[in-house]
Amino acid sequence: MTATATQTLESINPATGEVVGSVPVTPVEDISAIVARARDAHSAWNALGLDGRLSLMRPIADRLIEKASDIGTLITAEMGKSTPEGQGEASYGASKFASELVSAFEAFQPEELADENTRSMLFRDPLGVSVAITPWNFPMLMPQQCILPSLMAGNCVVFKPSEETPLVGQAYADVLNEFLPEGVLQIVHGADDQGKALVTSDINLVAFTGSREVGAKILTACGPELKRVVLELGGKDALIVLEDADIEAAASFAVQNSFRNSGQVCVSTERVYVEESIADDFEKLVLAKTSTWKQGDPTDETVKIGPMVSSMQRDIVLTQLEQALKDGAVLRCGGGTHGNYIEPTVLTGCSHDMQIMHDETFGPICCIQRFSGDKEAVALANETPYGLGGAVYGKVEHAMKIARQLTPGMVGINKACGGAQGTPWVGACQSGYGYHSGRDGHRQFTQVRMVSLPIHEVKPKY
Ligand code: NAD
Repeated sequence: MTATATQTLESINPATGEVVGSVPVTPVEDISAIVARARDAHSAWNALGLDGRLSLMRPIADRLIEKASDIGTLITAEMGKSTPEGQGEASYGASKFASELVSAFEAFQPEELADENTRSMLFRDPLGVSVAITPWNFPMLMPQQCILPSLMAGNCVVFKPSEETPLVGQAYADVLNEFLPEGVLQIVHGADDQGKALVTSDINLVAFTGSREVGAKILTACGPELKRVVLELGGKDALIVLEDADIEAAASFAVQNSFRNSGQVCVSTERVYVEESIADDFEKLVLAKTSTWKQGDPTDETVKIGPMVSSMQRDIVLTQLEQALKDGAVLRCGGGTHGNYIEPTVLTGCSHDMQIMHDETFGPICCIQRFSGDKEAVALANETPYGLGGAVYGKVEHAMKIARQLTPGMVGINKACGGAQGTPWVGACQSGYGYHSGRDGHRQFTQVRMVSLPIHEVKPKY
């Protein structure tokens, strides 16, 4: 992504280097007026009530479904995601819109509690103006989880998509704005400067998805005025492969979850810990499965792994890889690079003396370390400030015992870490500060207020 002197943001296709399109950068000095417009729109939006907002937003779901294929194509063009994954992200997001609206609608209903003396009514009010600041790796899904519940709650939203994927952000906002009243959802284009100006402007809540480092800066910026924040941050997810695991299934998961989206996923498997007694067989399977991953032009539907999002991201990952090899990791396959591509790479002989087992590696590197005994596996997996997701492969009772000793917010047993319909997406430790989705996640976009009266009084209408 490059900003020209005329303040245009060009979106560059990382596979070809071609310009996909451009958007005007929002001047920082315009941001307070944009926020003021959102505040002006807020009372009418709030006055519609939950029922009014639900009916107004419901048709968005069908329109998103109509546009999903175009948005999926744009995701592949802007950030290099393989075609099945780009189309998958857009159609999944579109298909979830209607049920997420209803889930938020239900989460925001007033509640009544009473005891022998008092009747209390709990209301979930909008906060006012919220800001959605999002990353490039899921350029439609991440905005959706920051925007949809906030709008449904009655907030007006100012949305800043990543500077790497402004066109997907714009396309998504355009669909919503076919239905929303003016000022309810506005878009700001730019990078750090626009982000900083937004979080320090006259807003009430920041819903941020991105790196731990930027999350910490946002928390600091919001501190003086105690603005609400919901931060979904990076991870360093572990996969533990126990002695009694289905090794074939564990190896398939290790490969799939290390390399999908070129490893640019917050819940990628970043560290694999395998029990010593099965490690030789497991590693052989990982190598065999990795060799079947076709890399290349992400518009070719048979390609599973495209380029990194940018040369900058490629260089960060290559530097981490170079250091890991200097530190003694063994390169078993991959390691090569051309253009913005990094080959799917498997390292064995990894240890916690290596930086690659500590820093988030947003790239297609599968790092394998051996352990002896459950205690060591748990200690290694928990030795990180992050706590987003993780997975344990093994017999269910055994794996459950291990899972309950792990620090991440989401752990999968013999599967990825994502939960059933209605569960939150939750990072623990330094991977999250607040969380999204599910009833409790949606409620973080609201302020609880309570009115109480003596129990003998006639219950008022509300
Ligand atoms: P990033 O933190 O560099 O940028 C995210 C957004 O913040 C961008 O829109 C950027 O312009 C903006 N920004 C940058 N500096 C800012 C500042 N000082 N104030 C306000 N906004 C600022 O992250 P990225 O490189 O776009 O995305 C990758 C990161 O996102 C990884 O760490 C990944 O793990 C994380 N992520 C987490 C989740 C999750 O659910 N926990 C999901 C997706 C991505």
